[in-house]
Amino acid sequence: MSPRRNYPKNKRPKTEDREISPSNQSFEEHDDGLYTVRKLTGSASTKPYRCPGCDQMIPMATPHIVAWLEDDEESRRHWHSACWAKKDKRRPNTERTRNAPRY
Ligand SMILES: [Zn+2]
Repeated sequence: MSPRRNYPKNKRPKTEDREISPSNQSFEEHDDGLYTVRKLTGSASTKPYRCPGCDQMIPMATPHIVAWLEDDEESRRHWHSACWAKKDKRRPNTERTRNAPRY
């Protein structure tokens, strides 16, 4: 059962046959690691996803972000673009403020 695909024999990116186009993929460093971040148009969505940032669904055909820790594709999540941006702000690169009372 080896899925055969008709790839041309010339060089492939090392990510092989994942549907990644490097132009809409980037890497972002967060407190919990280096994330691979892909911008999706949503046009290929076949189901809605739940955004871990706001706990709301991302409707189909909505441009959004999918991100996962570089070495852990199990951590892959779909985010609203705005929520992903907020995640970054919520965990600033500066040191945590010690006298901030809330978690
Ligand atoms: Zn969200």
